Amino acid sequence: MIKKEEGVSDFVLLNQITENAFIENLVKRHKSDSIYTYIGDVVISSNPFKKMNIYNESDIKSYNGRYKYEMPPHIYALANDAYRSMRQNQEKQCVIISGESGAGKTEASKKIMQFLTYVSSKANQDGEKISKMLLDSNPLLEAFGNAKTLRNDNSSRFGKYMEMQFNAVGVPIGGKITNYLLEKSRVVGRTVGERSFHIFYQLLKGLSQGKLNELGLNNTPQSYEYLKKSNAFDVSTIDDSGDFKAVLKAMETLGLNGDDQNAIWRVLAAILHLGNITFTETAQQQTGTTTVRVSDPKPLGAAASCLKCDINALGMALTYRSISTGVGKRCSVISVPLDVTQAIYSRDALAKALYERLFQWLVSKINTQINNPEKGPVIGILDIYGFEVFDSNSFEQLNINYCNEKLQQLFIELTLKSEQEEYVREGIEWKNIDYFNNKPICELIEKKPMGLISLLDESCLIAKSTDQSFLDGICKNFEKNAHFQSYASSKDRTIGDSCFRLKHYAGDVTYDVKGFLDKNKDTLFGDLINCMQASSDKLVQGLFPPTKPEDSKKRPETAGSQFRNAMNALINTLLACSPHYVRCIKSNDNKQAGVIDEDRVRHQVRYLGLLENVRVRRAGFANRQTYERFSTRYKMLAKKTWPSFNGSPKAAVEAILAEHNISKEEYRLGKTKIFIRNPTTLFYFEEKREQE
Ligand code: ATP
Ligand code: MG
Repeated sequence: MIKKEEGVSDFVLLNQITENAFIENLVKRHKSDSIYTYIGDVVISSNPFKKMNIYNESDIKSYNGRYKYEMPPHIYALANDAYRSMRQNQEKQCVIISGESGAGKTEASKKIMQFLTYVSSKANQDGEKISKMLLDSNPLLEAFGNAKTLRNDNSSRFGKYMEMQFNAVGVPIGGKITNYLLEKSRVVGRTVGERSFHIFYQLLKGLSQGKLNELGLNNTPQSYEYLKKSNAFDVSTIDDSGDFKAVLKAMETLGLNGDDQNAIWRVLAAILHLGNITFTETAQQQTGTTTVRVSDPKPLGAAASCLKCDINALGMALTYRSISTGVGKRCSVISVPLDVTQAIYSRDALAKALYERLFQWLVSKINTQINNPEKGPVIGILDIYGFEVFDSNSFEQLNINYCNEKLQQLFIELTLKSEQEEYVREGIEWKNIDYFNNKPICELIEKKPMGLISLLDESCLIAKSTDQSFLDGICKNFEKNAHFQSYASSKDRTIGDSCFRLKHYAGDVTYDVKGFLDKNKDTLFGDLINCMQASSDKLVQGLFPPTKPEDSKKRPETAGSQFRNAMNALINTLLACSPHYVRCIKSNDNKQAGVIDEDRVRHQVRYLGLLENVRVRRAGFANRQTYERFSTRYKMLAKKTWPSFNGSPKAAVEAILAEHNISKEEYRLGKTKIFIRNPTTLFYFEEKREQE
């Protein structure tokens, strides 16, 4: 049922473009359950925190194939536009969804997929099958990649770019998932009140008693140190056993059979057992040194059994480290005992590596099922982890927030900067609109050779470096940078001794450097790798492939550099598509239905640059096309241009406009393109074309 809407459906239509008018409209609409509003082509979505009766089959049907202006704003209208553009122009499309943690990005991405699969797959069985696989990848990856945080009960802890691939007539034929940096540190620890990844709780609640016994597990998460430490188990909004059933179904759809499933459970169980291993230091009277041993063989035995590796080998790999000495024939390997801290470090490193590699393996498994070598247009949907600020922020938050900076920059580039530049380039009269450009902060983080990531890499190369010396280095280097504040320069002393602060586009974040070097190096001792390679379990073995001889001499890429490269590759992928934007707004911090916190909303409207977006949009043109494209598409609409026309494409465009009496105010003619002010003019031509 489509009801009458409050406020204006496009912010461009506001009488006055002021921040107050903008907020007033957003609040009014939110309160009356109109959670979507446009700024031209951009969809602004405010999180309702309640189930909305607007995503039914009948809703999909009513948006399918319609023009935006015919219907109230909806995420389905955007999905429909992306689908139409893809088919019409046979061009790659992407949907970029941004907003802070808990704003509704993942939900939006799922609604878009729901719409696209519904409207596109009916044509044949293969289309339906692939659609089901694409949809089922969601519950599966969310179980392994999402977790309850203080900001969001279902927070994405990895970034995802999902490409849906279609054939020339718009039927889905495949897909591809690219994933970005999983927050694996969550497996071994997190802030009190947060949970580890959903799958651990699902497994303990959902697996039969018999299966749990086989894995040496019981069904209480409190029994496992890795889960127990943050003291959060049941979440009122989460149904772990129900979700587990969905995971099992999804696994079936995606070709993960019983053996695969059992192998996955074994790895997860092994991680839980690893977390229960503790170490004891014992003095060696003969040598006067200390060694470390595993305190209780039970969890060690359980972990070894799940990993199908030798218990003694695993015990040794956790408490000793092999070091080669000498060269050539004189080379020998000696075992050096670790201390307790190092043993704990290596245990946690193994747990994190197992989980991260298992996640990567899952993504690859899904990809082998859905990949299709055939070439065809795609619609990519980007759903990443949103900007986040906690009381204590570490390396993971730096990466997450850097990723959000990059996307904000892309938004600025595509909607504010290049739009204005294009008007100038095309010789269209234009009065510049100012906006906040976050390029300097992106550069502070990523620039080579003196950006934050590069300086961190450099510290990782120097044996003597510590987290603190890295901090001292960056404090000196960025002393004069307006986006950086150090603990030394901060007058109010709110920045701790081990911290620095970045002035992000979305707010200030204080990062604690403790653990930065280790997290960036991300090393796993060779002994543990050898131990895993000797496992008789195919999955475990496969997670630790032998190093290729040509790679053995190379220094492994650091986590920070890998992420920076992945981000830049992502931006290039997005730049090759026609973009569609969803900007999600978190209505309040308490996940409350029907509540919209004006101050919080104002803050987001400001940093997202939404008002500037309205101004550029209002003063500008909704659509532009080259003269060639416009004249080819609409030549049948004018007697002068149909069936053939002798003049230039520009002259053809002028002839078409003249024949339809399009007002001069409605368009401008640039050097190579026609600029159309209102989408309705374009819809008019489209409708005429369909009538022909
Ligand atoms: P993160 O960056 O932490 O992954 P996110 O932006 O992906 O956050 P979501 O997980 O999509 O946030 O949304 C958080 C919660 O808000 C959802 O679990 C759901 O309860 C609610 N929510 C979001 N969008 C909608 C919607 N359209 N209708 C109803 N509830 C919604
Ligand atoms: Mg999410």
